[in-house]
Amino acid sequence: MPVSNSTHRIYLSPPHLSGNEFKYVKQAFDSNWIAPLGPNVDRFEKEIAAYAGVRGAVAVSSGTAAIHLALRLLSVGSGDTVFCSTLTFVASANPIIYQGASPVFIDSEPETWNMSPAALKKALEHAYKEGDLPKAVLVVHLYGQSTKMDEIMALCNEYSVPVIEDAAESLGSSYKGKASGTMGKFGVYSFNGNKIITTSGGGMLISDDEEALAHARFLAAQARDPAPHYQHSVIGYNYRLSNVLAGIGLGQLEVLNDRINERRAVFERYWQQLSGLPGIQFMPELKETRSNRWLTTLTVEETAAGISSKNLLQAMIAANIEARPVWKPLHLQPLFEGVRYYAHEANRSVSEELFTSGLCLPSGSSLTESQQDRVIRTIKNSFRVPSELEESL
Ligand SMILES: *Cc1c(COP(=O)(O)O)cnc(C)c1O
Repeated sequence: MPVSNSTHRIYLSPPHLSGNEFKYVKQAFDSNWIAPLGPNVDRFEKEIAAYAGVRGAVAVSSGTAAIHLALRLLSVGSGDTVFCSTLTFVASANPIIYQGASPVFIDSEPETWNMSPAALKKALEHAYKEGDLPKAVLVVHLYGQSTKMDEIMALCNEYSVPVIEDAAESLGSSYKGKASGTMGKFGVYSFNGNKIITTSGGGMLISDDEEALAHARFLAAQARDPAPHYQHSVIGYNYRLSNVLAGIGLGQLEVLNDRINERRAVFERYWQQLSGLPGIQFMPELKETRSNRWLTTLTVEETAAGISSKNLLQAMIAANIEARPVWKPLHLQPLFEGVRYYAHEANRSVSEELFTSGLCLPSGSSLTESQQDRVIRTIKNSFRVPSELEESL
């Protein structure tokens, strides 16, 4: 058996193949469907829709493309605003800019790390008074954790603002029995290489609105009008997923539930070994939800822990372990300087606290126990050193 030593790099979330992917890729080759669209794409869409329990799905080249299409379908354009979670990857918000609209960033709340209903309420009340309600609210389910959707949906319904769920990280998670991504008007999944299942690159737009999805298919294939010649009346995109890559997705989808169980087991082992350390708090799991635990994440409270999350990260990098800080909030990004932001409480920005203290641990479904032991040992040793030094002084 290969021994995991410090010369082997441990990755944050590497791709994990089932072994069946090539069967579907080969079918694409054998039938010469080396094109965007084809039988693998059709089947992948149907299977994802069935898995999530929605009427339809449109396979596209990335999660970012799916978010962009959702905004287009909601007629987001120049001069509009879109409310967006601040604690997320930049890909959540970039498509708002593609459409010439402006994001307004909404803070997290401590129980889920996701969009704060209190901050959203403030932002909606304010926008309503100004006569400038957003065209959409874009909610992100971070690291597999469900947002407090009942509260978010109630607020958005009160003001009749449609919701887009960025479920790029939460495929397979559920909220009160409902699949992540199925509660808003549109849901978005990503099959990028680091996600819970991958097509190497790809995404999916899901919805119960089949008419809207038909329009998404039209827009994603260069918006070609039904005419014998090439005729175009609106701007389209080349966003469809390749039939070859959809074959990888079919092989991956067969093992999605295994991958969720494996990632949850990874979380469980970290929790058992590390939750007793002073100053460590794991990302909680909201009641009546089940997270896919895409990444195991925790916060390090420096005074109690005797080590900062930054120094802990350095210790892991030195041990050839790929760990990451929690996403840097978008309202702090140079790209979004001057953009409006609503904090959870008047004097409390939860996303900034999480950015300062948060860490993502290697969480891949293929992580071996000996690799995970190496991560755990590295963390425990980082905690031990200062206190032992104190004792010997
Ligand atoms: C990965 C990710 C995306 C973008 O998905 P791509 O397929 O890489 O374009 C969007 N939002 C979040 C939260 C993500 O993690």
